[in-house]
Amino acid sequence: MTETRLRFPPSPTGYLHIGGARTALYNWLYAKKTGGKLILRIEDTDAERSTEESIKGIIEGMEWLGIDWDEGPYFQTDFDADHVASAQKLLKTQKAYKCFCTKEELDAKRQAAQANKTTYGYDGTCRNLSAEQIARKEAAQLPFVIRFKVPRRDEILSYDDKVLGQIKAAYSEIEDFVIVRSTGKPLYLLCNVVDDIRDRISHVIRGQDHMTNTLRQVLLYEALEAPVPVFAHMPLTLDLKKAKISKRSHGEIVAVQFYQKHGFIPWALSNFLVLLGWSSGDDTEIYSREEMIEAFSLERINKSNSIFNYRKGDAKFFTDPKAIAINEHYLRTMPIEEIADMVKPFLKEKNLWDSAYEGEKKEWFLQTLNLIRNRFHTLTDFATLGRAYFCDEFPVEAKPLKKNILKHEGLKEWLPMLAKRYEALDEFTLETVEQTARDLATELDIKPGIIINGMRTAVTGQLAGPSMFDILVIIGRERVVRRLSEVEKLYQ
Ligand code: GLU
Repeated sequence: MTETRLRFPPSPTGYLHIGGARTALYNWLYAKKTGGKLILRIEDTDAERSTEESIKGIIEGMEWLGIDWDEGPYFQTDFDADHVASAQKLLKTQKAYKCFCTKEELDAKRQAAQANKTTYGYDGTCRNLSAEQIARKEAAQLPFVIRFKVPRRDEILSYDDKVLGQIKAAYSEIEDFVIVRSTGKPLYLLCNVVDDIRDRISHVIRGQDHMTNTLRQVLLYEALEAPVPVFAHMPLTLDLKKAKISKRSHGEIVAVQFYQKHGFIPWALSNFLVLLGWSSGDDTEIYSREEMIEAFSLERINKSNSIFNYRKGDAKFFTDPKAIAINEHYLRTMPIEEIADMVKPFLKEKNLWDSAYEGEKKEWFLQTLNLIRNRFHTLTDFATLGRAYFCDEFPVEAKPLKKNILKHEGLKEWLPMLAKRYEALDEFTLETVEQTARDLATELDIKPGIIINGMRTAVTGQLAGPSMFDILVIIGRERVVRRLSEVEKLYQ
């Protein structure tokens, strides 16, 4: 079997969209699965809309997601000459022809078709011009486009889509379509095929939004005497109102960079994106890279559109809840050393990073992350909800302040008393801190919960979290004593 060759050919006209990332992933998975190659080709022929910034964003987004490519990036504009040469070849072999019809003529025919309620298609006026007629028009330097000469066969044109099955149309339904504009610029439809032929692409996995091109592209492959690749068209990703997800209507959440900024683990986002349009057929949702490569197949790509379950302005979920749940899974189960590497930039950004976390405080750092990660949703939470573990200025949430501190005036004295006892302990361990706190509650004849909850709020600013005694030991005697002694400040 010949090598499978896949491509990801984004148009660099914006950020890397999660739909684009999903396309890249499917191609990457299939290349990996079949031991093939992935080619990155930037389709930058739209000079007005393509930007350097976008190219950079796409490449950085792919690198962040860990989607590596074997060849490229190639740039479509570097191959302009190829596109023109292919159009010339089609002209020469009489598989295409010059069309001199003016816009006015075509518009008039279109309107007439509308008036008669018939569907308009180019009527082939210039298809049968004699050599003499063509020569005369050329001599008069009349502008022309180049049209592809769709074979007029009494047959059905079809291809076997790996996802959707047989896709077909009668040859007679396909009009002679334009492949080169009157400016001499080849159309995207042709460039895309010429590049895929040159790059020896064996499989084209792309969104169903490109299907309008596919039958015509099949004709181009045949006319250029190149093998037609295998096509697999993926479902679209729609929002809850069944509209395409876009930056204009959904904002930043459709950009891969948004997830990077908000503390997603790259593979967690990939894992979520793969499920958005593919399923193994069982309930498995969590896949390692290797498991995903193993499980992936084109045949199991969904036929129907996938839903990106996001409600604008949702106070609870800032993106699809499933994406968050998958991220939580990885956050809570990945080796803690890997989490530490990923948390570092987020702590740095908030000035909470200490280089000793990679040196003498490494053990403490890893233990801390391990203790607090179970309630976190994203990597950013370590620098926000986890602030009290890394510095002394941390916010105290309103709810626990009221419930655990202000409601119990006595804590003003009790917590400093406890601080003194903690200071005097020989050893500051799980057992000693717990026993000391319980003994104090017994002596004062109050419920231990009052001391423990008050302590949680004074030491972490929060209502809930890991076991309080674990927290005390991790935060350390010095800081705990200081925070308990200064509880009075919370009443001001
Ligand atoms: N450049 C196209 C896009 O970004 C991809 C076309 C294709 O996959 O054939 O949508």
